[in-house]
Amino acid sequence: MEIELSGDGTTFAERLKEAMQASGMKQVDLVNAAAAQGVKLGKSYVSQYVTGKTIPRADILNFLAEALAVDVDWLRDGPSASQVANPPAGLTSGPEALSTAADCSERDVPESAPPASDLSDLPEPRTTTPTLARPAKEGTPMRQFKKSSKLDHVLYDVRGPVVDEANRMEQAGTHVLKLNIGNPAPFGFRTPDEVVQDMSRQLVDCEGYSNSHGLFSARKAIMQYAQLKHLPNLDMDTIYTGNGVSELIQLSMMALLENGDEILIPSPDYPLWTACATLAGGKAVHYVCDEQADWYPDIADMESKVTDRTKAIVIINPNNPTGAVYPREVLEEIVEIARRHQLMIFSDEIYDRLCMDGVEHVSIASLAPDLPCVTFSGLSKSHMIAGYRIGWMVLSGNKHAMKDYIEGLNMLSNMRLCSNVPAQSIVQTALGGHQSVNDYIVPGGRVYEQRNYIWKALNEIPGVSAVKPKAAFYIFPKLDRERFNITNDEQFALDLLHDKKLLITCGTGFNWGEPDHFRIVYLPRQEVLEEAIAKLSDFLSYYRQ
Ligand code: PLP
Repeated sequence: MEIELSGDGTTFAERLKEAMQASGMKQVDLVNAAAAQGVKLGKSYVSQYVTGKTIPRADILNFLAEALAVDVDWLRDGPSASQVANPPAGLTSGPEALSTAADCSERDVPESAPPASDLSDLPEPRTTTPTLARPAKEGTPMRQFKKSSKLDHVLYDVRGPVVDEANRMEQAGTHVLKLNIGNPAPFGFRTPDEVVQDMSRQLVDCEGYSNSHGLFSARKAIMQYAQLKHLPNLDMDTIYTGNGVSELIQLSMMALLENGDEILIPSPDYPLWTACATLAGGKAVHYVCDEQADWYPDIADMESKVTDRTKAIVIINPNNPTGAVYPREVLEEIVEIARRHQLMIFSDEIYDRLCMDGVEHVSIASLAPDLPCVTFSGLSKSHMIAGYRIGWMVLSGNKHAMKDYIEGLNMLSNMRLCSNVPAQSIVQTALGGHQSVNDYIVPGGRVYEQRNYIWKALNEIPGVSAVKPKAAFYIFPKLDRERFNITNDEQFALDLLHDKKLLITCGTGFNWGEPDHFRIVYLPRQEVLEEAIAKLSDFLSYYRQ
């Protein structure tokens, strides 16, 4: 493993251990002190810091320095990088001059680069290879380039330390069974041939930038799809294509939120919503979705969280991670809240064509012709084309109230010039004609049968219960906290990974408040799911935290 050394030759882990020794604090004391201050710091994190596997991000580093009463620069960089080094009492600081330094933004220290197969899944925001910096001038330490403090409260733990640990294990030659990523292609869900052929035919015509909103043909097909979903007051100028829904979530939040503006977001959520609202300066206020009521939003809780700073409500329907699909009556109640409090509605409907059991998907925007609504969808899930990167957002309803907001969206859309043009070129093909996904979601289809299997099998494990998902390809089971004595679900995920080489995502990664849930992606074939269930079941027969 490459270890990053400070000027005095110590590693971060060594300095941390020195400081802990000097202050008499053990790992558990740090975890308790963090909990008392409301800082999110699990046992697994601390042990990874102490063993040198991971280096904390800025906010956690500040907490550690404060708790251990040492200078934060000393803790992060060692004595040479700190002009006013304050090592733990009784310790002497090392040499002043530095010949090497390293980027000290949040990062893990990988043993080597992640394998190519992992790179194809999603970016690894926490993993960078340590770099050695040279002094700009002889004797002057190279300045440090830190990540922006705007990222301090931004979390995207779907790819957090547990996934990093799984990658490390794979690099060391261990096979890990991964049930953590909603990426259809690696599980044999291939892009329809017609779509691939149409893209290759049009590739030569896609060399230039397109209109910043997107190709006319793509937006026309999106508009027709929105018309079929009864979205009111549509026009081609307020349909935007993006490099996946992900880009548009960010753009839509950036255009709307002033610092301190509040936005209602579900708990559990797809955490990109909370992350983008936060990055835009907003305050994500979470309303609870009720497991006892098929994971529908708790309407009373939602309304009780509206304040005079609230600007909008976000719904994710069908939902990731719960697989819930909201019925018309629930949507009407949400619209009523938005109407009463003059709020915008953002509806993420990327799984709308993956509903099972004959459940009808209703677009909330179709129920709110008088309100400003933004509806998101794309081809990543329903057409199994996650890698080509194409999504869209459609504005509908009260455009007058959104006049200025639309100007902001246009500015941001123009600034990124356009979305990926080859991917736009296949929207018309994908949205028209035979929908191959329909075969997956009916009896005998893979998604349907795998859903039935995983739901039944999970409920047969003592101490586990799960609501049957109605759409998408995720299930969000509950663990009996008392039975397993679980206080930290990330630790649970890490222990499961170490013992059984099985990777799941813990519930708090979806902004769920209690450490008692986890998410399984049931895209793998049933034989693989059976193997996973056998491992999980055995693990839970002895596991107590
Ligand atoms: N919205 C939800 C609810 C998702 O689950 C995902 C991806 O998992 C996205 C948006 C991002 O989709 P895209 O691939 O279009 O960026």
